[in-house]
Amino acid sequence: MLNLVLFGAPGSGKGTQSEKLIAEYGLHHISTGEVLRKHIKDGTELGKIADSYISKGQLIPDTLMIDILRHELEGIIGDSKGVIFDGFPRTVPQAHALDSMLAEMGHELHGVVGLEVPEDELKRRMIERGKQTGRADDNEETITNRLKVYHAQTEPLRAHYIGKKKYMQINGQGSVDDIFANIAKEIEKKTGTGREKQQ
Ligand code: AMP
Repeated sequence: MLNLVLFGAPGSGKGTQSEKLIAEYGLHHISTGEVLRKHIKDGTELGKIADSYISKGQLIPDTLMIDILRHELEGIIGDSKGVIFDGFPRTVPQAHALDSMLAEMGHELHGVVGLEVPEDELKRRMIERGKQTGRADDNEETITNRLKVYHAQTEPLRAHYIGKKKYMQINGQGSVDDIFANIAKEIEKKTGTGREKQQ
């Protein structure tokens, strides 16, 4: 199995690069943002709670988020080539919860792909995405708050994973294909897993 976290600020290209990783390595994708947006669209109770945080650019509380992740993971972990965690973990407690959950299930996290993009470029991308997709939290006020929350609560995970020797630093600027080629190279270096081996 190849279990990877796709890490980076909002707008760093996690969703786009996830699609390429799925296509090339045949991995399962868990995007916590997408799971939450689906609940909001379906009008579930969880969706109502999630919306009250997402619309303000805040994080969903850890205990709730960890339960959601566990539910998603239990459905797929046994029979898959591996999992891409996109948008999880976003806090240090979530990172610890992910390690314990994977260990309980007899698995481990192999690496963290860190997409690094300057702040003005992140903002530009999110404004553009808001225009193209109508995504509700891609508006200027919420974007500013999401970036603040990222620096305060999520960015410390970078040092956490560097300390664990799991972090792969990737320049998130350039063409989608060039960025992906760098990701594939780093994954091979860190885990020995080549693109063709997983297909
Ligand atoms: P994303 O699509 O990953 O940018 O997530 C959109 C929003 O969903 C975030 O701004 C948070 O409000 C919420 N969210 C997604 N993943 C998490 C998480 N792991 N922990 C807390 N909140 C999350």
